[in-house]
Amino acid sequence: SHPEFQAAIPIMQQIEAAGFEAYFVGGSVRDALLGLPIHDVDIASSAYPEEIKQIFKKTVDTGIQHGTVMVLHGGEGYEVTTFRTESGYQDFRRPDKVTFVRSLEEDLKRRDFTVNALAVKHDGTIVDLFGGLADLDDKLLRAVGEATDRFSEDALRMMRAVRFQSQLGFAIEANTKRALQTEAPLLAHISIERIASEFTRLMTGIDRDAALTTMLDSGLSAYCPGFENHTDELRELTELKDDQLPSAAVAWTLVVHALQVPATPLLKQWKQANALIETVNRANTLIDAKQVSAWQLYQAGEEAVTVASQAAEWLNLPNQWQAQYQQLPIKSKQALAINGQKLIQAGVKPGPQLGQLLTQVERAVVSGDLSNEPDVLLNHALSESQHN
Ligand code: ATP
Ligand code: MG
Repeated sequence: SHPEFQAAIPIMQQIEAAGFEAYFVGGSVRDALLGLPIHDVDIASSAYPEEIKQIFKKTVDTGIQHGTVMVLHGGEGYEVTTFRTESGYQDFRRPDKVTFVRSLEEDLKRRDFTVNALAVKHDGTIVDLFGGLADLDDKLLRAVGEATDRFSEDALRMMRAVRFQSQLGFAIEANTKRALQTEAPLLAHISIERIASEFTRLMTGIDRDAALTTMLDSGLSAYCPGFENHTDELRELTELKDDQLPSAAVAWTLVVHALQVPATPLLKQWKQANALIETVNRANTLIDAKQVSAWQLYQAGEEAVTVASQAAEWLNLPNQWQAQYQQLPIKSKQALAINGQKLIQAGVKPGPQLGQLLTQVERAVVSGDLSNEPDVLLNHALSESQHN
């Protein structure tokens, strides 16, 4: 019924006409059955990549080594992935070997959770080999097969479990939950980038509290950098207002605030982007300040002010930072009615003192002590520079 699926039906029919099977699989099937909006549709097929390329005129090799070919149709791209099994997993992450197979069952068996292991034919027939439909109904995340085996094959699945717990608002089935406890130490083998991506989605999901609690109780958090020995502080994060967080920056601001550590080293350990680190740093500076001056708001900048005031809502810290920021006389140095060049033209000598003078003027304007007019600022600057 979703237009995204409708548009892909001709592709599936063409694959079937060539004598192969094709199914919708993965997150879009799960989300559609839950009545949630869907993103990209994934198609799985018994046809090998070379066979897909023979069926369709226009294809792109987007991930041919994993069996994925993108079929171009009506101005859209559709990823078709050959049924495959995985084996190896010697290092508790990504398999050593991917084998293409003709059997849908083999492909569904390697998937992580029952709700992620459903397949749907173009006519709407659902293939449910592991009780995924019942689990969708019961809002349960259950590993496909033996949970301990599945988590030791690929330890990232444990972070996916808690991420889906928060994203979907599902509970984790008892056996799967126990396996999180026994296999948690294997998370140490997973790259921080992949852990971080799941953790951010957990923090911005609809059931952050339950998922954080699972992370703490299972011991998963102990294998996350900077979280070791901080269980009590992290548990404070489950006592915030329940509402969903608006962004990763707000989520990290709250994490940093709870841990009471400097933002930069923690977020560098988590390999976060410099822009995010800067925003979180600035936001926490505002949150930690006893009293926030106009100059502090100006220095923080609009984005950090927004993030700080959003984070403050979850911390129950009343503030007027956004309104105060909007009322600042200027929001950047460029908006200042004078600049270095104008000062030099008026006779101020170039050099470090000129820079200091400009900053002093900037600060006086931001604080409302001087009005942002060329004459006012020039007169003030000239009299100051004569004093020196
Ligand atoms: P979303 O797109 O919302 O993140 P998703 O379920 O589509 O959720 P993807 O990472 O896009 O997640 O993966 C697509 C599908 O591939 C999953 O639904 C699951 O069947 C399978 N899958 C992904 N990662 C793993 C994994 N580490 N182990 C086993 N199966 C996986
Ligand atoms: Mg997906």
